[in-house]
Amino acid sequence: MSQGTLAYASIETADIEWRDGQPVSRRFGDVYFSRDNGLEETRHVFLNQNNLGSRFSALQSGECFVVGETGFGTGLNFLATWHAFLAQAPADAHLHFVSVERFPLTRDDLAAALNLWPELAAQAGQLLAVYPPPVPGSHRLVMAESRIRLTLYLGDALEALEELDFTADAWFLDGFAPACNPELWEPSLVQQIRAHSRAGSTLATFTAAGRIRRALADAGFRVERVPGYGPKRDMTSGSLAPESTGKRSSERPQDRSVLVVGAGIAGCLLARNLAQRGIRVVVADQAQAPGAGASGNPQGALYAKLGVQFNAQTRLALGSLLFAQRFYPAVTPHAWHGTGLLMMASSDQERARQDKFLAGNHYPSSILKPVDESGASDLTGIPCPDGGLWFPDSGWLEPPKVCALLLDHPHIQPVFGFRATRLLPCNNHWCLSGEGQQDLMADDVVLAAGHEVRKLMPVAGEYRMKPIRGQITRLPLEQLTVSPRAVVTGNRYLNPPLGNTLVTGATFDLRDPDPQERRDSHLENLEALQTMVPGLLRTPAEALEKATGRVAFRCTTHDYQPVVGPLVNDRKEVLEGAWLLTGFGSKGLMWGPLMAEYLADRICGQPVALPHSLMRRVDPARCLAKTPNRLP
Ligand code: SAM
Repeated sequence: MSQGTLAYASIETADIEWRDGQPVSRRFGDVYFSRDNGLEETRHVFLNQNNLGSRFSALQSGECFVVGETGFGTGLNFLATWHAFLAQAPADAHLHFVSVERFPLTRDDLAAALNLWPELAAQAGQLLAVYPPPVPGSHRLVMAESRIRLTLYLGDALEALEELDFTADAWFLDGFAPACNPELWEPSLVQQIRAHSRAGSTLATFTAAGRIRRALADAGFRVERVPGYGPKRDMTSGSLAPESTGKRSSERPQDRSVLVVGAGIAGCLLARNLAQRGIRVVVADQAQAPGAGASGNPQGALYAKLGVQFNAQTRLALGSLLFAQRFYPAVTPHAWHGTGLLMMASSDQERARQDKFLAGNHYPSSILKPVDESGASDLTGIPCPDGGLWFPDSGWLEPPKVCALLLDHPHIQPVFGFRATRLLPCNNHWCLSGEGQQDLMADDVVLAAGHEVRKLMPVAGEYRMKPIRGQITRLPLEQLTVSPRAVVTGNRYLNPPLGNTLVTGATFDLRDPDPQERRDSHLENLEALQTMVPGLLRTPAEALEKATGRVAFRCTTHDYQPVVGPLVNDRKEVLEGAWLLTGFGSKGLMWGPLMAEYLADRICGQPVALPHSLMRRVDPARCLAKTPNRLP
């Protein structure tokens, strides 16, 4: 990523001028689409010249078609493609659109531009509901109940293509005219487009400029000049020979099976994600119901601690938070409470950290904004002694309910009471043995059982993960002087009530394997809460008597980053078809949705949600201890 876009958490937006009700870029001095009829132009230039209508109708059941685009602009091309896909593709085929935009439109400008196309109103509404704030980097948007995916990279096109992992079936080259927007037509970018194309891939662009046609031909495309739209005499289309690169997989998703070990938030999110892509999933867990381990707490807050530097670690956490904030309200609305969340500056150290964080970054205010004590008190409904950072789109969840809702899908078969003992490869499958139970077999296996996964790994070498004990404290609401209406986090978190109780916590007990609920842990939670919001507990001694709780073990890695990707052995060789999805620490609700999306992308061989720089951060290979304990 270039330094220009790395330094800040927000990217410059488009400078739009409205001329006769049409959007025009002031920066580039060019129109976003034809003044005559933008939608008809899109259909003529991009859809028809890529022959999308008949290619969509010819898709197999469950197949995924990938379109790549340079210049997302108003999203008109995307929406027109989506519209055509719904009309022509089989009902269980998927469309994945990968696009890049250096100067994204603001949400208001986007809404105004898309208002021009009543025919696309249904799609436009769904896009606007998930359109990301102007944060640089890769955004994954899932629409139409997971039939339509958009990977929208906000940043320079060349950087995007270096960072993103995908191959397209068709390309829309739609920068402004080459004379006003030369970067988007550089030969190096054309080479990248070629590298991200499948065999038989096609492309279309409105321009007929000779130097663009030559660059495309030099990259290996067979290029043609064809009639343009309206007053434009010519445009360009191109294609790659069918046999020149790669090859389409003939495997259909419905013929594939995946076994997920662990029915906590990670396993349930992944199972649902794969099931929606048409894959049959078996989810095995030793418990009798989903969410019995660390995902079994009655309430869980959705938040991320964002670093002072806008580096890869911060981008990964922010991307996960933004994805999760869109995911739960859409997919598990009955378990989601979008109350907003205050990250209180409840110590001098945290105050200093937040000051530095705010001075060094420019976060869009739709993501977070600073508030003082009185603002914090108004928003949360409790007397806050400190201000902090307010996250308007965050909130809290009922994790066991989330897990149960996610598993409720016809392609998912849960197997409870399955105490897994051994995982072994057999005949191109994975075979999981359980105590006194029939073995479970599948093409792929995903270990998503928190820290328990170490016991099942059929590899030599030690993965650096450890369980950390956490005890929550549940209090009757009457133990508080006031009832919070938003989540508050600081040296503890506190949720708004669920019925007549609310949850605060949790302890963070290193090297403490005790699974029993303990009084000293309740005392620790209540003292911390009392320090964070003095006077909140009506009678601390009585609160301690009335406290109930629950103990669970988080799976934490040496670097506090998730572990997502292929399982590797101590020689860093990949075990084909075996995957890890764990290491979420105390932030499973936050990491889970994006990490499951990313892993499902990889399992299905579809465009990948994380850019290369963030894939490295979650790669399981980094967790192998430097000096492995070789098994005999
Ligand atoms: N496809 C768009 C639509 O359907 O509305 C119209 C695209 S408009 C003609 C060209 C877009 O390319 C603009 O939004 C512009 O900001 C973007 N752009 C220009 N230079 C870029 C670059 N170097 N990297 C990425 N996007 C760029």
